[in-house]
Amino acid sequence: MSVKGMLNDLQSGYPVQEQLMPVLFVGHGSPMNAVEDNPFSRAWEDTGRQVPRPRAILCVSAHWETLGTHVTGMEHPRTIHDFGGFPRLLYEKQYPAPGSPELARLTQSTIHRTLVKLDSNWGLDHGTWSVLCRMFPKADIPVIQLSLDQTQPPEYHFELARELAPLRQRGILIVGSGNIVHNLALITFEEKAYDWAVEFDDQAKRLITQNDFNGLVHYEKLGEAARLAIPSEEHYLPLLYTLALKNESEPMRFFNEQITMGSLSMRSLYIGS
Ligand code: ZN
Repeated sequence: MSVKGMLNDLQSGYPVQEQLMPVLFVGHGSPMNAVEDNPFSRAWEDTGRQVPRPRAILCVSAHWETLGTHVTGMEHPRTIHDFGGFPRLLYEKQYPAPGSPELARLTQSTIHRTLVKLDSNWGLDHGTWSVLCRMFPKADIPVIQLSLDQTQPPEYHFELARELAPLRQRGILIVGSGNIVHNLALITFEEKAYDWAVEFDDQAKRLITQNDFNGLVHYEKLGEAARLAIPSEEHYLPLLYTLALKNESEPMRFFNEQITMGSLSMRSLYIGS
């Protein structure tokens, strides 16, 4: 880096630091987890206390699919209530975290695979705020979102995500928010999980533990359980963003290892220390 480059780097809000930030994948499940006190939301609160304080958060949510890759660039992202049929309490919930146009530009310059478009319309959807309002309830850490390009296959997302790695050295907490098993069409109100849901959740756990991310990228080769667990890819892809950022020898641990409503895996992942 040139002297001028170093000076610019020090002057930016996100200079390189010694500590590598962890990376998270969070199974978000029902939006009600934002307002309910339950084992899932309590684990999110615990995670928020365990993470070194981030300078900012970049979230890849299942609920923002676009043509091309977009990043939110506004100073004050709105809280988006992108769901229907829930109690009023949930629609009244706000998560007024600031945005970070500077981090949005840094993200644009970090990704080379595609030209990332700066967005001024989106905000924070419930994949992001339902989790962050429990992890970081003060809403005082800047948050941006990176969208999922709905025209691209899993390999593409995995490769693009690898380019985000330098942000971990700059105090940025990267969070993938989705669900490893997510089949809303087959949801039940009994707590017993479908056999195929248990099977795929276990298989995903095994592949993650073995660092076999290629196997997870090519999930379509994993058979019938995978097909039922991933009827569409948007809730699965955020997991690939998280895994792509893991260094081989890095510690990781699971939390919220439970399947709820028959066909929703809340399995979540903490990579790093
Ligand atoms: Zn969702």
